[in-house]
Amino acid sequence: MKIIRDVNEMKIEINSIKRYGKTIGFVPTMGYLHDGHKSLIDTARKENDIVVVSIFVNPVQFGPNEDFEKYPRDEERDFKICRESGCDIVFLPVKDDMYKSSHSTFVDVFNISEGLCGLSRPGHFRGVATVVAKLFNIVKADRAYFGQKDAQQLAIIKKMTLDLNMDTEVIGCPIIREADGLAMSSRNIYLNCYERQQALTLSKSLMHAQSRIKNGEKHVSIIKLEMEEIIKTAQDSKIDYIEVVDPQNLKPVHIIEGEVLIALAVRIGNTRLIDNLTISI
Ligand code: AMP
Repeated sequence: MKIIRDVNEMKIEINSIKRYGKTIGFVPTMGYLHDGHKSLIDTARKENDIVVVSIFVNPVQFGPNEDFEKYPRDEERDFKICRESGCDIVFLPVKDDMYKSSHSTFVDVFNISEGLCGLSRPGHFRGVATVVAKLFNIVKADRAYFGQKDAQQLAIIKKMTLDLNMDTEVIGCPIIREADGLAMSSRNIYLNCYERQQALTLSKSLMHAQSRIKNGEKHVSIIKLEMEEIIKTAQDSKIDYIEVVDPQNLKPVHIIEGEVLIALAVRIGNTRLIDNLTISI
């Protein structure tokens, strides 16, 4: 497994892979890998000749009061997971190589970036789309793998590749959960024991919504209220949003008639967690 930190070296490596006509599967991450990331790497491994994982905590997608500095990092552990998953290249660009002091180009995907997490994290998706566009230009992958865990991010990246005629095919992969239902996240490490228990209200509320919808409830306002009640049983919870939207354009739905995405963001103590579920009737 090659470990490459330099952007130019990475481009040279990619060019030589391409010369041999090999396909490249790409998994962009911020590191501190868990089984959610591993599932993306496993899928990339099955579908491509070469697997590239990037690890880059992208400063441009963090707001001024967010956790960029304290975001968990553990390179050696990540390398071990990558190696065991059959990854060929780990790409770890450094901040100053990705963003020169003169950097002045950003990618904004309008409309779908504005609701849900875009409301409480202004500029976040601009940072995400920009770094993914840069990484796509460097890695020139045939396929890139993203988790449904970050449903809005996945929709934005799909839209970006469509709008900008990018060649990389974006593939969404299912959410991987702990045995008790908590969606895996690098940020779960911030939760203490008590908060970890309270965090289960997120997946519980989604499961509740699913069973209510399957049993015929169509009114989003009722579903949202009931989900809110479940989450509020967690003493340290603060709801950022609970939304029921169209999975394609992320526009709010009021009466459930076809497929919907139920997405939520909740603070448990100081940790902001997201989760979602796609339900079709
Ligand atoms: P991150 O390192 O958090 O930026 O995530 C890198 C990629 O892994 C993104 O495409 C995420 O959506 C995906 N991912 C994170 N957590 C999970 C999970 N629990 N299940 C599936 N994919 C995930």
